[in-house]
Amino acid sequence: MYLILLGPPGVGKGTQGVLLADAMGWERVVTGDLLRTAKDEGTPLGNQAQQYMTAGDLVPDHLIIKMVEEKLNTLSPGTSVIFDGFPRTEGQASAFNMMLRALGRTIDAVVVLDADDEVLTARISGRRSCRSCGSVYNTVLAPPKQEGVCDNDGTPLFHRADDQADTVQNRLNIYRRETEPLISYYEGTKAAVHRVPSHAGPDEVQAEVRAALGLDE
Ligand code: AMP
Repeated sequence: MYLILLGPPGVGKGTQGVLLADAMGWERVVTGDLLRTAKDEGTPLGNQAQQYMTAGDLVPDHLIIKMVEEKLNTLSPGTSVIFDGFPRTEGQASAFNMMLRALGRTIDAVVVLDADDEVLTARISGRRSCRSCGSVYNTVLAPPKQEGVCDNDGTPLFHRADDQADTVQNRLNIYRRETEPLISYYEGTKAAVHRVPSHAGPDEVQAEVRAALGLDE
């Protein structure tokens, strides 16, 4: 299974991706996490990406495509993968197609999560993330058992610099302009496109994602 999780910032792609990957034993390729690691490690890619990420802008396609290509080459052939945060532009989607063709793979399904901008903004402002395992919490809606610490592995949680209010609107605008058109792009391919509203809590949304994918049958 090659699955794309598509949706605006704060909609729950990270949360749903972790739940699904843990339940199914699938891998996750999360371009935001790969970039944050590159930035923390001070690699050339991280240094190039930094200014775009801080402003909430998209990192240029050629950097993202190379990064994903390198990541795909590290996965064993039959692995099932959830792609979270990629592709985000039509340029990335068509480069992705070429990569997949070379690997003899195709996108099987696209899950589109969406919610109103007010819900997204509220989720983003309280979001706290774990660098180590990718778990995502919310100070109000889904707090960790101990404040500021990941339930899974005890790592201190962090508040993303690009989750500050002034960059959030830019990220939402960019999503609606650059990434949302990929829904109709994938509707024109053989991939099964499922739209799942993401207003409810994580477990309810996960149940709907699994039902849409036919995983509980
Ligand atoms: P995310 O964690 O998915 O919200 O990504 C955080 C930031 O990383 C985004 O605001 C972009 O600056 C950058 N980024 C992540 N994935 C991509 C992508 N596929 N294309 C361009 N920029 C990306």
